[in-house]
Amino acid sequence: MCIAQIMGDCSRSAQKSYAIFFGFVFTLPLVRKRRVALEGGGNIIAMNIADQIYSTDSANQDRAQAIRDNLRDAIVDRRLAPGTKLSEGEVGTLFDVSRTVARAALQMLSFEGLVRTERNRGAFVANPSPEEARQVFASRRLIEPGIAIAACGRVTSADITAFRAQLDEEGRFIAERGPTARRSEIKASGDFHLLLASVAGNAILQRFMEELVARSSLVIALYGRSGVSACGHSEHTEIVGALESSDCERASQLMLHHIDHIEADLDLRVRAGPALKEALNF
Ligand SMILES: [Zn+2]
Repeated sequence: MCIAQIMGDCSRSAQKSYAIFFGFVFTLPLVRKRRVALEGGGNIIAMNIADQIYSTDSANQDRAQAIRDNLRDAIVDRRLAPGTKLSEGEVGTLFDVSRTVARAALQMLSFEGLVRTERNRGAFVANPSPEEARQVFASRRLIEPGIAIAACGRVTSADITAFRAQLDEEGRFIAERGPTARRSEIKASGDFHLLLASVAGNAILQRFMEELVARSSLVIALYGRSGVSACGHSEHTEIVGALESSDCERASQLMLHHIDHIEADLDLRVRAGPALKEALNF
């Protein structure tokens, strides 16, 4: 499926800061242009030009960020399958931006491991190997029990209400049938883990979790036995129960077992492709 068919109903997720990356991509030309103008002697004109360039630069950052958010949602929701080509030209046309802006959005996704770029071939939705899949879950096993303990120490009654609302949403999608409800359920399952990370109050860990949840979604799309998220709704409910009763050790243990269960639902055996004869039905 091409990206043009997919991007129609993308929702925009929370804005993230990529100031360092954009500082390089977009402000380098700005610095050069400003210096050229100043060397020409027209300081006032130069300042006006610089202001205009700065404004354009900022707008380009916003556009690239919005495109990144849209594409990320489409990848995480599995509307864009692993291996799908993401051409700069098509992305630029769809979002009515230059190739430079489209390239910046794709590079952001590449840094996050959701897009793979190949020399002379372009960008593709990442296709994680079984080993990479194992590493994703090994990382989650190290990080998420600690997040559960941190969240347990900070959780408020308002947070518990938010968790309950999140669980209700998951339950509603589980009860519905069809691929759209299934994608929504998987996204809601991931959102539970992100909500826990936000309650834990560590912005850096939260960023890690955003990447790990997104990568997990790709891995589940490729290797899930049942074709759905193995994020058990009842296990999420138990974790919230442990948070509510301030049993932090139990919350941590439940999270560890939960991640084990998600990984156990995957089939990470390396499968040999069909032989030529078999593939051609001879
Ligand atoms: Zn889960």
